[in-house]
Amino acid sequence: MAFAFVAHQSPIRGRCIQWLISHGYLPIVYPNRCLDAGYYHRSVGSGDTFTKEQHELVETAAEMLYGLIHVRYVLTTKGQAAMMEKYKNAEFGRCPRVYCSGQPCLAVGESDIPRQSTVKIYCPKCEDIYYPRSRFQGNLDGAYFGTTFPHLFLMTYGNLKPQKTLQSYIPKVFGFKVHKP
Ligand SMILES: [Zn+2]
Repeated sequence: MAFAFVAHQSPIRGRCIQWLISHGYLPIVYPNRCLDAGYYHRSVGSGDTFTKEQHELVETAAEMLYGLIHVRYVLTTKGQAAMMEKYKNAEFGRCPRVYCSGQPCLAVGESDIPRQSTVKIYCPKCEDIYYPRSRFQGNLDGAYFGTTFPHLFLMTYGNLKPQKTLQSYIPKVFGFKVHKP
């Protein structure tokens, strides 16, 4: 089910769930059992069978709960360390701007309120935001990363902040610079 599903999608998500348990955000005594889909059904479903609508409702609520917990997790020391792995592997994607030379980006939300906009990627080199290329990221709620994450991350790991590029694109017509009126 939802928690087991999100936990098994990536080790970082699994760690996020474990963090929740260790900090008492999930009232579950046995962490390993919490990640077991059967346990989820037993604890939430209490043996009853969900209708399709109820199932979807639980799934949506669980996803939002996970997302809101995720935004808190990525601001913790452990969460930031986990995000560093992703950043180093450019898992959030690279800046599409030519003069940023494939700079790895970080995920960011334009709002901290859910269902306002999807997640974007922030380039620390040109300090701008872009639509992610991955469809999965593109469908993710921006509030699950929030507006603070990449900036706090770069404050924590100041050594990872790249130098701002001074190069910028110059539009030309027949080799001459285009003058702005
Ligand atoms: Zn850039």
